[in-house]
Amino acid sequence: MMESVKCLIVGSGPAGFTAAIYTSRANLQPVLYEGIQPGGQLTTTTEIENFPGYPEGVDGTQLMADLKQQAQRFGADIRFGIITRVDLSSRPFHVVVDGEKEIEAETLIVATGATAKYLGLPSESKYKGMGVSACATCDGFFYRKKDVAVVGGGDTACEEATYLASLCRQVYLIVRKPFLRASKAMQQRVLGTPNIKVLFEHNTAEVLGDENGVTGARLRHNDGTEQTIDISGFFLAIGHHPNTELFADQLALDEEGYIRTEPGTSKTSVEGVFAAGDVQDPHYRQAITAAGSGCKAALDCERFLLSQTK
Ligand code: NDP
Repeated sequence: MMESVKCLIVGSGPAGFTAAIYTSRANLQPVLYEGIQPGGQLTTTTEIENFPGYPEGVDGTQLMADLKQQAQRFGADIRFGIITRVDLSSRPFHVVVDGEKEIEAETLIVATGATAKYLGLPSESKYKGMGVSACATCDGFFYRKKDVAVVGGGDTACEEATYLASLCRQVYLIVRKPFLRASKAMQQRVLGTPNIKVLFEHNTAEVLGDENGVTGARLRHNDGTEQTIDISGFFLAIGHHPNTELFADQLALDEEGYIRTEPGTSKTSVEGVFAAGDVQDPHYRQAITAAGSGCKAALDCERFLLSQTK
């Protein structure tokens, strides 16, 4: 028999778990599927020092385990599994889990997050979490007074390079084109910061390291010449892609594939479907903003269900 749920949450980052805490407390008996990466992107970082309420910082995996436990305490049904198909053409929505189990959901909260892009080098994955990071705001602090590199030429790369320059001794910005794509203001800030060295027309051939983590990078200029830089941190800022493949053609997405929401709310283009966290936010991408938007989605969902029973 097909299972029917009032509120189905997809994704287990801070947005998904916060939505689960609120909807379970509102007695909507939410079911949450954790997805491909249980705990989301925060489980790929180490210490989180900017999540309010943890004066000594908190381990990313621990924070996610705590959020999960908090949701379960109020009765949220959290399950391991991946949503493989959704049909949002009529309500209740039809959802398939792991290619076989079918669920009917009165409402859906999409919190599937985004994935940072990496270059795809074997040496880069080898040192992930050991000096290779895609989040300077999360991990930059650990590189105080050290030398680091940032890859990318957009606003994120420039912002991260500027942030790191305030902490680190030397920041190399590795840009594959002969120019920066970032806004003029960001470009000027980067070019005017004395401890940022922009290496135009360079690509990374290899991340170098030892048993303690990253020690350098081998760079290749577009003319074929190579050089090695000594660094302890290697930061990727080459963009993110939202995890919205499941919803393409069903929800309104922006040009980059992020779910469009009605400004100030979590409402998507389909009534009864709400979006929270990085999947609808190309700008802030913080754990706390994701958690906040998960709360909004839960409240919007609760109000929607109430309006249906009137
Ligand atoms: P962008 O897509 O704007 O920039 C990505 C950068 O990474 C580009 O310079 C690109 O190079 C480079 N890149 C991509 N793939 C590779 C690769 N394989 N190897 C080397 N370099 C690579 O992403 P952002 O995350 O910077 O920005 C996303 C959006 O968010 C933008 O619209 C941006 O304006 C916005 N934003 C705004 C901010 C603000 O206003 N304060 C702050 C942060 C982001 P190339 O140029 O050659 O394609």
